[in-house]
Amino acid sequence: MAPTVDDLRTRVRGQTITPGDGDYETARRVYNGMVDKRPEVIVRCTDVTDVIAAIEFAREHRVDLSVRGGSHSVPGFGTNDGGVVVDLAQMNGVRIDPRAQTARAEGGCTWGGFNHATYGFGLATTGGIIASTGIAGLTLGGGIGYLSRAFGLTCDNLISADVVTADGRFLVASQSENEDLFWALRGGGGNFGVVTSFEYQLHPVKDIVAGLFFFPVERARDLLEFYREFIQTAPEELGMFPAFQIAPPLPFIPQSDHGKTFVIAVCCWAGAPERAEQIFAPIRGVAPLVAEMVAPMPYPVLNGMFDPLLPAGLQHYWKSDFAAELTDSAIKAHVEYGPKVPVVNSTMHIYPINGACNRVASDATAFAYRDAKFATVIAGMWPDPAENEKNVKWVKDYYRAVHPNSLAGGYVNFMAGDDQDRIRDNYKGNYDRLVAIKRKYDPTNLFHMNQNIQP
Ligand SMILES: Cc1cc2nc3c(=O)[nH]c(=O)nc-3n(C[C@H](O)[C@H](O)[C@H](O)COP(=O)(O)OP(=O)(O)OC[C@H]3O[C@@H](n4cnc5c(N)ncnc54)[C@H](O)[C@@H]3O)c2cc1C
Repeated sequence: MAPTVDDLRTRVRGQTITPGDGDYETARRVYNGMVDKRPEVIVRCTDVTDVIAAIEFAREHRVDLSVRGGSHSVPGFGTNDGGVVVDLAQMNGVRIDPRAQTARAEGGCTWGGFNHATYGFGLATTGGIIASTGIAGLTLGGGIGYLSRAFGLTCDNLISADVVTADGRFLVASQSENEDLFWALRGGGGNFGVVTSFEYQLHPVKDIVAGLFFFPVERARDLLEFYREFIQTAPEELGMFPAFQIAPPLPFIPQSDHGKTFVIAVCCWAGAPERAEQIFAPIRGVAPLVAEMVAPMPYPVLNGMFDPLLPAGLQHYWKSDFAAELTDSAIKAHVEYGPKVPVVNSTMHIYPINGACNRVASDATAFAYRDAKFATVIAGMWPDPAENEKNVKWVKDYYRAVHPNSLAGGYVNFMAGDDQDRIRDNYKGNYDRLVAIKRKYDPTNLFHMNQNIQP
C-alpha cells in the first residue's frame, strides 16, 4: 500500500506541508508569479534521507514530482497541481577546500550564498548574473555567466555530483563513477535525478572591476556591431553582454534620464584591476555615453547588483536562441524590438559563448552548442498580471523577428513552458545519447517537470 502523508511526515526531518497548513500559500509559490499551482505535498528537505523519502512517496503515488533549488525556473517547473514538491532551499551549506580550490555545495544553494562562501577564500567559479538564482537548475542546464569566457560554463566546472535517482538510490557521478550520468548532468537539466550536492572547481577571483555603460538607444546598432567583433578576441577575463534597459532611478544616471530606454553594455573585468581602463576604453568609444558606472568591487556585489530589479513574484515569459553569428539581419531585428522593452524589469541580453566554452567538445558534455557564439534571451519580467498580454506579445514579436537568424536550438535554462517541442534541437547530436541515459536512470520519466527528455 502506498504510504500516507502521515507516513511521509514520520520519515522526514524537514517540514511536510499540505493544503491548509499555515505555510502552504507561501510554500506552493515559485519565483515566477504567473505560476499558480497547488501541489498535494511540499517537502522542505533537510538532508538526503528526506529527498529519498519524498521521491519514493511521489513514485508510489504516481503523481507529478517537482524538484526545486532556487525556484527560478521560468516555466515554473518547481511546482505542480496535485503532486509532490522536493524543495531543497534549506539544504544550502557550502564547504570550501582552499588547498584544492574546490567547493562542495548543497542543492538548495543560491549563487548569492555560494559566492559569499567562496569570496572569503578569494575564489569563485562561473555562476549566474543574479544572486537569487539557484546553483542547481543553472548548473544542470549548463550555466552562463560573467566568468564563462575565462572558465567555461558552470557545468564545465562540475567535478562530481551526489544524486538520488528515481528508484531512490544514492549515486555519485563523476569522471570515474557513473560517468554516463555525469555526462548527462552537465547540460541535461533535471531529467536524471535529484542532485543533493555539487562539487565545483574554483578559480582565484576576488574583486573585479564592474562596468555599466549606458548609450542612447538610437546607437543600438553601433553597440551591437562593435560587440559582435570585439567579444571574439577580447581577453577572456572580460565578461560582457549588451542589453536593452529602461533606466532605473540610480544615482549615476542623470535624473532626467530615469525611465528612458537605453542600450547598455554590462561588463565584469576579472583580470588585473590596473588593466580595466584599457579594456573598457574601446567600449566607451562606441558612442557618446549617457551614464557610466565603473568601480572595483567584490565579485558577489556585482552578482547581486540587479537583484533589486527582480524580486520574486514578477510575471515571467522568456524566449531564447543560440546563434552562430550576430548577423546584420539579427541586429536589424534587435534595433526594431529592443527599444520597445515595456518595463524596467524586462530586458534582452546577448551572452557570448566563446573562450573556454568553445574549447570543450560538443559531445564531451550534454551541453551541445559549443560551436554557438551567442546565447540570446528575451526576458519578459513585469509586475502586473493585468499587463500579461502586452508583455508576452513583446517577447513573442521580438523572438519571431530574431529567431530566423539563429541556430535551431536554444539554452534550456532560458526556455519557456511552450518550448517543449524544441527539446531535440536543444541537444542536437547529443539527444539520442541523453535518451539512452534517461532510459537507464529514469525509465518511467518520474523526473518530467523540466525541459523533458522522454525515455
Ligand atoms: C532572474 C533570472 C536570472 C537568470 N540568470 C541566469 C544566468 O545568468 N545564467 C544562466 O545560465 N541562467 C540564468 N537563469 C536561468 C536559470 O539558469 C534557470 O532558471 C535555472 O533553472 C534556475 O535554477 P534554480 O535552481 O533557481 O531553479 P528551480 O526552479 O529550482 O529549478 C529549475 C529546474 O532545475 C531542476 N532542478 C533544480 N534543482 C535540482 C536538483 N537539485 N536536482 C535535480 N534537478 C534540479 C528541476 O528540473 C527544476 O525544475 C536565470 C533565471 C532567472 C529567473
